Amino acid sequence: MASFAFTIDAECPESWARAGTITTPHGVIHTPIFMPVGTQATVKSVSPEELRAVGAEIILANTYHLMLRPGSELIAEFGGLHSFMHWDGPMLTDSGGFQVFSLGHLRKVSEEGVAFKSHLDGSPRTLTPESVMRIEAELGADIILPLDICVGYPCTTEQARAAMETTHRWAERALAAKQQYRPEQTLFGIVQGGFDAELRQQSARFLGDLPFPGLSIGGLSVGEPKAMMWEMLRATTPALPRLKPRHLLGVGSPEDLVIGVGLGMDMFDCVLPTRVARHGGLFTPHGRVSIKTARFRTEKGPIEEGCDCYTCRNYSAAYVHHLARTEEQLYYRLGSIHNIRFMLRLARSLREAILTGNYPQFRDEFLARYTPASEQVRDAQREKWKAARAQRD
Ligand SMILES: [Zn+2]
Repeated sequence: MASFAFTIDAECPESWARAGTITTPHGVIHTPIFMPVGTQATVKSVSPEELRAVGAEIILANTYHLMLRPGSELIAEFGGLHSFMHWDGPMLTDSGGFQVFSLGHLRKVSEEGVAFKSHLDGSPRTLTPESVMRIEAELGADIILPLDICVGYPCTTEQARAAMETTHRWAERALAAKQQYRPEQTLFGIVQGGFDAELRQQSARFLGDLPFPGLSIGGLSVGEPKAMMWEMLRATTPALPRLKPRHLLGVGSPEDLVIGVGLGMDMFDCVLPTRVARHGGLFTPHGRVSIKTARFRTEKGPIEEGCDCYTCRNYSAAYVHHLARTEEQLYYRLGSIHNIRFMLRLARSLREAILTGNYPQFRDEFLARYTPASEQVRDAQREKWKAARAQRD
């Protein structure tokens, strides 16, 4: 199989939405696609067999966590992540940069790279654009990302510009370093630029001109209002090459998927669907419901009428409610399966809508029906999760 290819199957005439096909050494991905996140080389509480059964076409694993534990050298001894975790489909690893900036203690950025202390044991570590290419070669994912700097929100234009320029120099170093490793791996560039539209466009053009077969959009969904995130994307997309796949890094609630597709994004990843599931939040076409609330106590029907997932085909909402209330292990699995399937069905429906020329209608109907979690609720949850994140994710 060819190591990497991207073809556009259809484009929406009224928006920037497109449907495409990505070929990787471990299989084909139909876009738009949602990528479940397996932080520790496992999508929490769901087996690879179950991931296949819900229709996952590609999953993401986190380089930062895996390099610290169990270590990329050990994973390489097992033939890479695919055989280590028994997932034979396409896989993407991030660069570890985002976690260094959000989890690593006492980080120090220089032109060479970033020095930080492990959040696990405080041991000193260094990442450079070159070492990240070696680590990701050991992990062996199909799509890999280079070390970048994510400035967070809020930040000044000067901070954003400096971080973007370093990210660009590191991108060129990563391209050069990658040549000594595995040619079957595909390196995407990461667009940065903070919350400045001109910087975003500059970054998109600079990285779009380099020989990256695809591009990830980084540094968004880091605490800014949603409206600002979409504004940045509206500025970025027209500056991106049409014929390269576009990955919106770390973004992936149901409404994000629907809106992001219209702004030209092809690939989405986010821990949100599995994380909210573990806390009792399950997706339905009308919005997120809390399965723990009393209204499900006697509900004989499934969580979502018409859902074809394993959970909804076999269990009443009342039983899932009971499992969630008693914090039984099986709940985490059943809840996660439903939410991942919801995201993958949504991605598939978006693709069908684009192929049949109905994306704008699909988007408008979905958004009219679906009530997203309010920004206030999201902010409160984000703070709660941030506090617990260093231990759990
Ligand atoms: Zn379901």
